[in-house]
Amino acid sequence: LTEKLQNIFKNLRSKGRLTEDDVKEALKEIKRALLAADVSFKVVKDFIKNVQERAVGQDVMNGLNPGQMVIKIVNEELVKLMGSETTEIKLQPGSAVTVIMMAGLQGAGKTTTTAKLAGKYKLKGKKPLLVACDVYRPAAIKQLQVNGEKQGVEVFSMGENHRPANIAKAALEHAQKNGNNIVILDTAGRLHIDEDMMAELQEIKETVTVHQTILVIDAMTGQDAVNVAADFNNKIGIDGVIITKLDGDTRGGAALSVKAVTGKPILYVGMGEKLSDLEQFYPDRMASRILGMGDVLTLIEKAEAQIDDEKARQMSQKLKKAQFDYEDFLESTQQMKNMGGLSNIMNMLPGISGMGGMGKKGMQINEEQTELAEKSMARMEAMIYSMTPEERRNPDLMNPSRKHRIAKGAGVDISEVNRMVKQFENMKKMMKKMGNMGGKKGKFRLPF
Ligand code: GDP
Ligand code: MG
Repeated sequence: LTEKLQNIFKNLRSKGRLTEDDVKEALKEIKRALLAADVSFKVVKDFIKNVQERAVGQDVMNGLNPGQMVIKIVNEELVKLMGSETTEIKLQPGSAVTVIMMAGLQGAGKTTTTAKLAGKYKLKGKKPLLVACDVYRPAAIKQLQVNGEKQGVEVFSMGENHRPANIAKAALEHAQKNGNNIVILDTAGRLHIDEDMMAELQEIKETVTVHQTILVIDAMTGQDAVNVAADFNNKIGIDGVIITKLDGDTRGGAALSVKAVTGKPILYVGMGEKLSDLEQFYPDRMASRILGMGDVLTLIEKAEAQIDDEKARQMSQKLKKAQFDYEDFLESTQQMKNMGGLSNIMNMLPGISGMGGMGKKGMQINEEQTELAEKSMARMEAMIYSMTPEERRNPDLMNPSRKHRIAKGAGVDISEVNRMVKQFENMKKMMKKMGNMGGKKGKFRLPF
């Protein structure tokens, strides 16, 4: 069995690398897909160029053909580009009032989204105040009032005969008196980018302190989204973006364009006309939607799972024989990186995912810890690379003079080498124990 596994393992490594032709060919297809999703031409061009540089020469994963491998890389880059995680609108600390200004073209969904947001904040125990700053259309004020009422939140309006900046100022005073801790300004849009509109938004910003300026973009804007976003960001400065109307059949390339040109996070997505249809933005879901290659992505996921499986199985065999050496140690750290995270491998390690109290929920790992861990992993790698092959394969060789040499080679302090050796010994011990437990009692079964 072991031999068979080792063969599989070898195959994982000897699949060859992506050639320039592989990459070019696959990227043609991807370019077409992105343009069809309405990603701006310029963004597509830059993106393709970056991916090309990254992809050529990469190993092709087992179970994938070169084209699929390129798609895998593209998908990862798309996720990276859109921000690796969800972002919240930043509120002022404590009971201080947060002023949020909604901006965007007419019909983008500002008024609707204002009411949607208010509902979310109300659920969180906040006391929002919605402010009717669109003084150009009587219907706009009414629309906000109707929506505010539906959400059970207060709406502040002064009719149509005041400057939006003055309305905002009065509203803020009202909020301070009435204990509203979030003030959302629903402003007027125009059909196109317009100097008056920008001036009006600027005047609001000069009159009251706006903590968060949120740009609302209609996903169906298509190629134009990129200009709209750049203009708003340059002229008034935005803090985040909400993309609306993603419930339609557009693939939502606007999201990618907007993020690429402004660098500002996408906060929420509008998924319908109902006031509950506002969802958190998930970069990975958006990436696969824009790419529109769901089938291939599923296949890639399966291939990834399989590789993790094979590697884990092989590791488990070694553990049972207590053969765990520095090569394995190194490999396990590299695997962590490939698999994109510490929490992943934590769940894969024998004993950890199997033990009730320390399962997924008990092992919440935050971003900061992950970063620290990644840095220490990099140093650990440097130390292991500074060992001779014999030292790697035979951990018992380790002695003070070897440790000094390794420390020097890796450019770290000797204490760090000591710590790493201890970590290694601990891991070896722990894994061996877990392996034995699994064997004898069958109580703690290895997760692979
Ligand atoms: P504003 O001019 O920016 O204030 O835009 P509105 O809030 O008045 O919205 C314009 C239209 O878009 C309205 O008919 C809304 O119901 C609709 N709308 C807004 N957000 C969404 C969404 O996420 N999905 C769908 N399908 N329609 C939306
Ligand atoms: Mg409106």
